[in-house]
Amino acid sequence: AKARDAGVKVFARADDDANQLRMIRKLSRDAFEYSPVLAKKLEGLEADAVAFAKTQDDVVSVVAAAVSENVPVVARGAGTGNYGQAVPLFGGIVLDLSGLDQIEKLDAERGTVLAGAGSLLSTIEDATRQQGWELRQHPSTRRNATLGGFVAGGSTGHGALLHGGLSEDGAVLGLRVVTAEATPRVLELRGRDVFPVVHAYGTNGIIVAVEVPLARAQPWVDVTACFPSLKEAAAFALDAGNAPSVPCRGAAVYQAPLAFKFLDKEPSIMHADRPSTDGDHVALVQCAAAGVGPIRRLAEDNGGEVSRVINAEDAPRPMYEFGWNHTTLHCRRKDKSTTYLQSVLEPDKALELVQKVQDEFDSSELLQHLECVRFGGKVGFASLALLWPSTHERLHEILAWHEANGMPIFNPHTEVLEDGGMKQTDFAQLGFKARADPGGVLNPGKMRAWDEQRATTEEAADPRGSFAASYR
Ligand code: FAD
Repeated sequence: AKARDAGVKVFARADDDANQLRMIRKLSRDAFEYSPVLAKKLEGLEADAVAFAKTQDDVVSVVAAAVSENVPVVARGAGTGNYGQAVPLFGGIVLDLSGLDQIEKLDAERGTVLAGAGSLLSTIEDATRQQGWELRQHPSTRRNATLGGFVAGGSTGHGALLHGGLSEDGAVLGLRVVTAEATPRVLELRGRDVFPVVHAYGTNGIIVAVEVPLARAQPWVDVTACFPSLKEAAAFALDAGNAPSVPCRGAAVYQAPLAFKFLDKEPSIMHADRPSTDGDHVALVQCAAAGVGPIRRLAEDNGGEVSRVINAEDAPRPMYEFGWNHTTLHCRRKDKSTTYLQSVLEPDKALELVQKVQDEFDSSELLQHLECVRFGGKVGFASLALLWPSTHERLHEILAWHEANGMPIFNPHTEVLEDGGMKQTDFAQLGFKARADPGGVLNPGKMRAWDEQRATTEEAADPRGSFAASYR
C-alpha cells in the first residue's frame, strides 16, 4: 500500500485478482529448473506482491516501504538466472526492474555505455553497434537478459575469451545502487568499489544503472570443425583462443555425440552437405573475418575438418545461442532429465583434465561441453558438462569428484551465493551489506554469512530474529 501511495504499480496477492496472481507466480520464478535439486526445493515459492519500478525514485519508494515494514525485497531483471537467485524464499516483494530501460549515455569517443539496470543487453548492443562498438561480453541469454541482472547474477559469457569474465577489474566501470536503509541512499560506485555489489544476487543493494566498457565491433565469422577425438577438438579450441594474431570472441567444444544428438538440428551448426555424425567431436569458433585462413589451418593441424564457415550476421542462429547454458537448453528440449555442472579447467592443465574426465565417466552419464575463457590472461576452459545422474546423490558424487581432481565446481545446484562459487565468505560483500541493508530485507536466505551472523547475534536480542528463522 505504501508503494502504491508513492505511485508505483503493484500487483498484490491480497487483491485476489486472477491476472495479478498469475503474474506474481510467473515473476517469482527464474530458470532454476535446470537443476533437479533446485526444482524440488524452490518450486511453488512466491512473492506476496510484485512492484514494477519505472524510475530510480520508484525503487527508492519501494525499498523504503519494505524497510519500514520489515518485508523482503528480491530484485528481478528478466528472471533468466539459473540458480533460483531471483526466487523469493520468504515471500515479500519482487521488485521488477525491467522498466529501468533507458540508455543514459553512449560515449562513442571513449567506448563506454551507461544504461538503466533493466535495459536488455540486446537493446544496448544494437544501439552501440550503430556507433561501431559492441559489448565486451554477454551471457548467451543476450536476447532477454538485463544488464543489471547480468552484473548482479551472472558471471561470464560470449566475449570472455577475449576479455575475461565479470570479475576482472575494469569489466564494470561504475554502478548506481539504492541502499535498503530507513531513508535509502543512492550510491555511485566506481573502480574496485563496484566489486561488493557485482555477483551479489541483489543481497546488498538494488542496482539502478551500470556503466560498462565496449569493444570495437568486428565482422565476426563462425567456423565449425569436426575431430575424431575430444582431445583434438579441445586442443584446436585452445590453439584458436591463444592465436595472437586472430581475435576469437568465443570457442566451444562438444564431446560426441552432443552436436549430433542435440545441436545439429534446424538451424544447423554444420554445412548442409556435411551433417554431423554421432562420432564427431565438434568445435565452434567465432573469429575475426581476416582470421578464417589461420583458423582453418589450426583445425587441420589438430586432425580436424572444417565443415562450415559463415558470416556471423548471416548465421540463422547466433553462435552463442549454441554455447554456454544454451547448450544445456538445447539438450533439455530433447531430454528433460538433462542437467549440468560448472567447473574450471585451469589453462596449464586444461587438456590433461579433459582427458581425465573422459576416462572417468561413461558418455551415458557425462558429456563434456567446454567454453574457452581467458583467466587472468591465459586461456583455459569453463566446463558446462551435461549430466544424466541416476540420483541426486550421484550428482553430488560427480561434483565432488571434480573438486577432488583439481577442477573447482561453481555449483549450479544451490541458491546460496557462497555455495555456488566462492565457497567462502566474501567479507567485502558482507561488510557492504551491513552498511547498505542493516535490516537484511534484500533477498534474504541467499547470503549464508549474513544469515549465520544474524542467527547468532540477533535472535536473542530481536524477537523477530532473522528472516530465515521467522519465515521458515
Ligand atoms: P535475473 O535472473 O532477473 O536476476 C539475477 C540475479 O540478480 C538475482 O539474484 C536478482 O535478484 C539479481 N538482480 C537482478 N537485477 C538486479 C538489480 N538491478 N539490482 C540488484 N540485483 C539484481 N549467465 C552467464 O553469466 N553467462 C551465460 O552465458 C549464461 N547463459 C545462460 C543460458 C541460459 C539458457 C540460461 C537459462 C541462463 C544463462 N545464464 C548465463 C544465466 C542468466 O541468464 C544470466 O546471468 C543473465 O545475465 C541474468 O540476467 P537477468 O536479467 O535474467 O537476471
